[in-house]
Amino acid sequence: LLQLYLPLNFLGWVYRELRQSLVDMERMFKLLDEEPDIADKPDAGDLAVGGGELVFDNVHFAYADRPILKGVSFRVPPGKRTAIVGPSGSGKTTISRLLFRFYDPNEGSICLDGQDLRDVSQSSLRSVIGVVPQDTVMFNSTIGYNIGYGRHDASQADIEAAAKAAAIDGFISKLPDGYDTRVGERGLKLSGGEKQRVAIARAILKKPAIFLFDEATSALDSRTEKDIQRSLNDISRSQTTLVIAHRLSTVVDADEILVLADGEICERGTHRQLLAKNGLYAMMWQRQSDGFIDDDLTKDYDGSS
Ligand code: ADP
Ligand code: MG
Repeated sequence: LLQLYLPLNFLGWVYRELRQSLVDMERMFKLLDEEPDIADKPDAGDLAVGGGELVFDNVHFAYADRPILKGVSFRVPPGKRTAIVGPSGSGKTTISRLLFRFYDPNEGSICLDGQDLRDVSQSSLRSVIGVVPQDTVMFNSTIGYNIGYGRHDASQADIEAAAKAAAIDGFISKLPDGYDTRVGERGLKLSGGEKQRVAIARAILKKPAIFLFDEATSALDSRTEKDIQRSLNDISRSQTTLVIAHRLSTVVDADEILVLADGEICERGTHRQLLAKNGLYAMMWQRQSDGFIDDDLTKDYDGSS
C-alpha cells in the first residue's frame, strides 16, 4: 500500500505545484495586462546585463491600426532615474509593455546594455526587469510568500531584508502572525499603499538591473507616500529606474523627466528646467500643488483626455 501511496502522493504534489504555478503565471500576465504573443528568434541568446543602460530610439507603436507612440527617443544611463509623466492615455503604460517585450515596436528600437530586445530571449529579459505594476495582485497565501514570490530560493532573512528596504517591515511586525499572516481575497485585505510596498519588496528581492515602477494613481496617506518614496530613492540610487509617475514627489528628484503627450515627448528635463519652461509640466505641477493627483487633470491643456 505504501508503494502505491507514495507515488500517488508525489503525483498529487506535482499536480498541485504545477497547477499553482500555472495560476501564478496566469495572474502575472493578467497583472501585467497582456498576453505574451511575441516569439523568441530561433538563435536568441540570453541578455548580458552590464550597468543597465536603457535606450529607446525613435520608437513607433500602434495597437492594431491606432498609432500610440510616435517616435519616442530617450536614454536612461546606468543607475539613473527617469520619470515619465503625461495625461492619461498618452502612452505611458505602453512604454512599459514594450520594455517588457509584450509587443515589438513597429519602427525604431529598444536596447538594454546595447542589445536589441528583439535579439535576446524573453525569459532573460524579464528576469532582469523588476516591475512594480500600478495595481498589484496579491496571491491567497502568506504575506511572506507574496514577497518571496518570484525568487524561490529566497530565505526568510532575504524576505525580511526586502520588506525592510520597502518600508513594510513595521507593518508586518504588527500583524497577528507576522510574515505568516494570510493575505489576498481570502485573507487580510491590504490597502493600495501596502500592496505597492509588497510589490516593491518583491522587486527588490529580484535585484533587477532595471526597475520599472508604474505608480499607483490611488490616493495614499502622506506617511505611506513618504515611505514608498524613501524605498524608491534607495533602489534607484543603485539601479536604473524608469518610473511612470503620477505624483510630484516621485518626479522632483528624477535625473530626467519626460513629458509624454499624445504619444510624443513634448518636454524633457529636470524638475527645475521644466518649471522654467512654463509648459505642460509647469501646468501639471500647478494643478497638483493645488491638491490634485490625477494625471487626467492635464486634459484641459490640449482638450483631450
Ligand atoms: P497611459 O498609461 O499613458 O494612460 P496607455 O499606454 O495605457 O496610456 O494607453 C495609450 C492608448 O492606447 C490609450 O488610448 C489606450 O486606450 C490605448 N490602449 C492601451 N492598451 C491597448 C490595447 N491592448 N489595445 C488597444 N488599445 C490600447
Ligand atoms: Mg497607465
